Amino acid sequence: MSGSISERINTVRAQLPPSVRLIAVTKQVPSDVIRAAYTAGIRDFGENRIQEAIAKQAELQDLSDITWHFIGHLQSNKAKKALENFQWIHSVDNLKLAQRLNELAQQIGISPCVCLQVKILPDPNKSGWSVPQLLADLPTLNQYKNLQIQGLMTIPPLGLNDQEIMAVFNRTRELAQEIREQNWPHIQMQHLSMGMSGDYQLAVEAGATMVRLGTILFGERGN
Ligand SMILES: *Cc1c(COP(=O)(O)O)cnc(C)c1O
Repeated sequence: MSGSISERINTVRAQLPPSVRLIAVTKQVPSDVIRAAYTAGIRDFGENRIQEAIAKQAELQDLSDITWHFIGHLQSNKAKKALENFQWIHSVDNLKLAQRLNELAQQIGISPCVCLQVKILPDPNKSGWSVPQLLADLPTLNQYKNLQIQGLMTIPPLGLNDQEIMAVFNRTRELAQEIREQNWPHIQMQHLSMGMSGDYQLAVEAGATMVRLGTILFGERGN
């Protein structure tokens, strides 16, 4: 890892097609570093813990054109806070959560953008719809009119080689295409949220429209 935050951002940005949205994942990154990334031109930020994100958002209130993306597993009891503090939720990973978000969005009077998280391969460490379950749930999802369902999110299981990772990303793109061809009036499928620091180049090659990058911009996180 070398260079300043802005140099790293510029290097990565230059490798991405202009149409691909770069989401800077700032979990465990302090708000002054987020501010530096903002100054370098980033407007999309991703977080995976609600409390941590809210604390930093409070310190960054003056940066009013940030779009906040929630990318972590969302527990039902935090759904309201997520909706109040994030414009996008990439990690809607089951029907019950989608239903809860839709109800809350209606109560609050908002229409959040969401992605449906899908597991192309079985992965005990990750949540998300299996492909058959997602296809079965589409008629119900189509009724959640307060959600703007924008597309699919996926994270390949750990330990795959490049070819296997590429197959996961390609399958995700094909699945979005299959769903699009079903013409659900309330399900959009124009976005693919896929690609992290280790695999974003493959994801872009496979058609990602949003990449979620942490380590490559901010360095290794402590734990
Ligand atoms: C942490 C995280 C990222 C970023 O991962 P890096 O490997 O640090 O780029 C992307 N997506 C999700 C869901 C994450 O939790």
